[in-house]
Amino acid sequence: MDRNDELFERAQRSIPGGVNSPVRAFRSVGGSPRFMQKASGPFMWDVTGKKYIDYILSWGPMILGHGNPEVLRAVHEACDRGLTFGTATEPEILIAEEIRKLVPSIETVRLASSGTEAGMSAIRLACGFTGRSKVIKFEGCYHGHSDRLLVKAGSGMLTFGHPSSAGIPAGVTADTIVLEYNNPQQLEDTFRSCGSEIACVIVEAVGGNMNMVKGSPEFIHAIRDLCTRYGAVMIVDEVMTGFRVALGGAQSVYGVKPDLTMLGKVVGGGMPVSAFGGRRDIMNMVAPLGPVYQAGTLSGNPVAVAAGLATLRLVQAPGFYDRLTSISRRLTEGLTEAARSEGVPFCADYCGGMFGLYFLPKVPTRFSEVTRADTAAFGRWFHHMLDAGCYFAPSTYEAGFVSIAHTDKEISHTIEAAREAFAALK
Ligand code: PLP
Repeated sequence: MDRNDELFERAQRSIPGGVNSPVRAFRSVGGSPRFMQKASGPFMWDVTGKKYIDYILSWGPMILGHGNPEVLRAVHEACDRGLTFGTATEPEILIAEEIRKLVPSIETVRLASSGTEAGMSAIRLACGFTGRSKVIKFEGCYHGHSDRLLVKAGSGMLTFGHPSSAGIPAGVTADTIVLEYNNPQQLEDTFRSCGSEIACVIVEAVGGNMNMVKGSPEFIHAIRDLCTRYGAVMIVDEVMTGFRVALGGAQSVYGVKPDLTMLGKVVGGGMPVSAFGGRRDIMNMVAPLGPVYQAGTLSGNPVAVAAGLATLRLVQAPGFYDRLTSISRRLTEGLTEAARSEGVPFCADYCGGMFGLYFLPKVPTRFSEVTRADTAAFGRWFHHMLDAGCYFAPSTYEAGFVSIAHTDKEISHTIEAAREAFAALK
């Protein structure tokens, strides 16, 4: 029993399942979750002192790697000025201006603290704006754990085999319509049958909570066209993809202009910041301007905003996303080739600084295909990689992430370790 096991046993006495978010548990791969004590650049160290190359990056935010000195300096300076005021502050304007500049579909933006809040508020706003109540979401997409959206959601909901959550009254989700991802025909049929009742369509343009599954351009543009035709609000959930797949997010990759966008993760640079924003006429419905209520004691917290603002400035360095993408490309190509040479059915895909690893013969395009992954092989591979100091998400339903701090050395080490891990599966 090492110190991770000891802490896990102790944690379970005080914390449900020993973790404060279910995706941190090793439920589907077995074993004790690792308890991390520090991180720097592309690395994390657990409580036994073991070092890992980090491919989770706090589930996305740490795009610069851990402990970027400029982000830390901004945070320290903000701390010295005061932890929270509960009033308006100038840095909130600065980060809002930065967001508007980088994501031009966002005309005005409201800050919150988690992606869940951003999603919950965006949905309420879309319903308030349209006066309609039906919400379309897609199977395998996760938009946080608010009641209306926790239907056939991805991420931990898939890892633990729950199609939905207990404790949500049927009436609350009665107006949530769940459709198949990447199926524009089904979407069109649905609009044809009840288009005048649909308030919004919410989508991860690049899905990151059923492993990584890219939306087809045809699908994403069909959402835009149908929303426009039927007067529904198109919400692109960029909590994971924002400032990660490209500087302008997934919407810039697809060349699509949503009515509302949700942001989280990178926008907070490792601190709790999220945002929702978009068309001014819609955002003007939010309190105090309009009748749609939304609030938060720590929204726009100055220390968190300092981390986010410093991060958003650094990702604008010339060539940043080309470099980030080439790191993902090298990793996924190397892993694919290692699996091929060992005869393991495996493939991989990437989008900017985000990637998917699939124990499947071909890259999935929808949730039903993701479910066919060889989870037993993945579990063995995962543990081999963990022993070799490579920390991937402990589930076949999660995407992976690289940071700008990952160098060729870490990628080569990972590919070599993976070759052995694939060989061990035979
Ligand atoms: N939306 C997407 C696409 C996400 O990936 C997540 C979290 O992983 C959320 C929303 C919820 O964000 P949070 O965990 O900050 O509530």
